[in-house]
Amino acid sequence: MSIHIEQISKRFGQFQALNQINLQLNTGELTALLGPSGSGKTTLLRIIAGLEQADSGLIRFNQQDISQQHVSERGVGFVFQHYALFKHMTVFENVAYGLTVKPKKLRPSKADIAKKVHNLLELVQLGWTADRYPAQLSGGQRQRIALARALAVEPKMLLLDEPFGALDAKVRAELRRWLRRLHDEIHVTSVFVTHDQEEALEVADRIVVMNQGQIEQHGTPEQVYDHPANPFVYEFLGNVNLFHARVNQGQTHIGKAAMPAPEHSSAAEQAGLAYVRPHEIDVFNQPQTDAIPVTIDLITVVGPTVRLEVQATELAQLVHIELPKAQFNTLNLVTGAPAWIRPRYSKVFLGEGI
Ligand code: ATP
Repeated sequence: MSIHIEQISKRFGQFQALNQINLQLNTGELTALLGPSGSGKTTLLRIIAGLEQADSGLIRFNQQDISQQHVSERGVGFVFQHYALFKHMTVFENVAYGLTVKPKKLRPSKADIAKKVHNLLELVQLGWTADRYPAQLSGGQRQRIALARALAVEPKMLLLDEPFGALDAKVRAELRRWLRRLHDEIHVTSVFVTHDQEEALEVADRIVVMNQGQIEQHGTPEQVYDHPANPFVYEFLGNVNLFHARVNQGQTHIGKAAMPAPEHSSAAEQAGLAYVRPHEIDVFNQPQTDAIPVTIDLITVVGPTVRLEVQATELAQLVHIELPKAQFNTLNLVTGAPAWIRPRYSKVFLGEGI
């Protein structure tokens, strides 16, 4: 089911939680609403669900305006951060619940319900927990059961609000991969809220970056990470170094270093702020005419990656760099030694930071 959101706004008292949101979500895609706390992600999800009423604007499911439809008519399944499974019911009974409370005319037979619940438990790889109670499961298992329960009624859309937010980092990472695989299998249009950029980048087909009740960018993970639309998205999606830069005739200059800037071809020199991710910087152990001289301040090995903090005296700033360990090993760099750096790529926002 496709979702069209048109000019949705929402205020809480004086506070503008959502400001004229326009968004189109495609059938079968998994979309992440990503943004800092208070950016309006949950409010938007609740408006899509019908749990919250927008002040103005329209929502269409498959072109049909459903803005006035009650939550129970919208065909959505939910999973929340603290999704309370019914404690006094077994896993089987929890997953079956949405089917057993259907009006008699629509209710499947007992045998069909049993078959369906078992299939769903297999889908979430927890078939062996059918007779257990929620208290006998781990947090990650409970969230998988919550998802099976949401899927039981065959929702046209799945809405997940920080579904893994309460779990520890390792379980979270496992469940992300699991959700991705599950979605590849079932292809139900899904929207999930997260403030964790890694989670969004890893799991989503598309990411909607939100800030202060507005959409900063909507695109694939590659688009928002590699081609951020603006400084906010750049900084929110990952670590970044900011440099004062000059741009002219398709070249960006940062100190002594120059690199191509095809998007800025004007002959007149302009200034701005250059955004460079830590892995987009080359490091040399010999002087280079067009590289920036630095001193190595700190070397940290994090698994297969080496993080460097270097002091660029002539730019009066610290620069963060990430190198693959194999490359680092060929450079023989030590703390306190000189080195030379050159950004490979930078996105310059003209007029910023001047
Ligand atoms: P978080 O990740 O912290 O949940 P969020 O991006 O999901 O953040 P929302 O929960 O949508 O943000 O909230 C957006 C803003 O609206 C917040 O500042 C919040 O305090 C405010 N807000 C949300 N619901 C209400 C409400 N019922 N009454 C008053 N203010 C609200």
